[in-house]
Amino acid sequence: VFDVLVIGGGPAGASAAIYAARKGIRTGVAAERFGGQVLDTMAIENFISVQETEGPKLARALEEHVRQYEVDIMNLQRASALVPAKAEGELHEVKFESGASLKAKTVILSTGARWREMNVPGEREYKAKGVCFCPHCDGPLFKGKRVAVIGGGNSGVEAAIDLAGIVGHVTLIEFDDKLRADAVLQKKLASLPNVRVIKSALTTEVKGDGQKVTGLVYKDRTTDELHVVELEGIFVQIGLLPNSEWLKGVVELSPRGEIIVDAKGQTNIPGVFAAGDVTTVPYKQIVIAVGEGAKASLGAFDHLIRTT
Ligand code: FAD
Repeated sequence: VFDVLVIGGGPAGASAAIYAARKGIRTGVAAERFGGQVLDTMAIENFISVQETEGPKLARALEEHVRQYEVDIMNLQRASALVPAKAEGELHEVKFESGASLKAKTVILSTGARWREMNVPGEREYKAKGVCFCPHCDGPLFKGKRVAVIGGGNSGVEAAIDLAGIVGHVTLIEFDDKLRADAVLQKKLASLPNVRVIKSALTTEVKGDGQKVTGLVYKDRTTDELHVVELEGIFVQIGLLPNSEWLKGVVELSPRGEIIVDAKGQTNIPGVFAAGDVTTVPYKQIVIAVGEGAKASLGAFDHLIRTT
């Protein structure tokens, strides 16, 4: 039986595990893929105090730091169900696809999120070679260059406004015949001289030279004509999907599927906490996930000393 069982081994889960283990309590981490999204990242330049690193290197450092402590790391384990304690003092249970099941006094959910992809030819091939998902992370790599933002919702329009201040030119591509972002954002966007908005457009292909992105192809949905935009970067902003499907109906989720947490990271279930990209906490970043993981872990410890 664990005092703290962490589900997910990204920055939030690693941080939660270290904070729990440092309290001398029985801690476990079960993760499908230790390192999380960080494994899919190339250059990381905004993890404060680390000027520059690479995703796989940071992922390794996270795991090595956790291994400094007495933590049971269970890798390649995908959680499929949470069975909350029926009464205070009883145990929560997490079931895994492998058939295994673990019991714990407190659980920290840190299963992260994934960016929705366009699913067009070239997108996978040029990921991190021009195809990006995070303007805060990769915007500065395109200083003075031409980029496109795919998606005209709040995150797409925010990204376009943000990028317009850094890059040379932004083309915003929206599938619908109107943008869906808040009016105030649309007004700001329209005032920027280096942004072009193309509506009723479906991106059909990412073009590259084998090394990096050189352009994109879109179909004008009113005429079915194909057009090519030459550029160096593409920011896909069509949604961030929290990995919370397995918690539906058990833990309270926002309409977007994010786990709703309070200031201490507690969910609607006493003793069940959550941290990182899977929660309602805004701005999905490594430095934030690490802080939220620590917070949820201290929250869980607080809960333990009051209830056991
Ligand atoms: P994740 O990193 O998503 O980790 C989730 C963990 O949960 C993983 O171990 C996963 O395997 C596991 N998991 C998921 N579902 C289950 C399940 N059912 N059962 C068990 N385990 C499960 N942020 C920055 O600050 N700077 C950057 O430069 C940067 N660049 C990025 C580049 C890319 C390409 C991407 C995709 C993201 C980038 N980010 C960057 C965002 C950053 O990676 C995330 O904010 C951060 O990793 C979130 O941490 P997390 O621990 O909440 O979740």
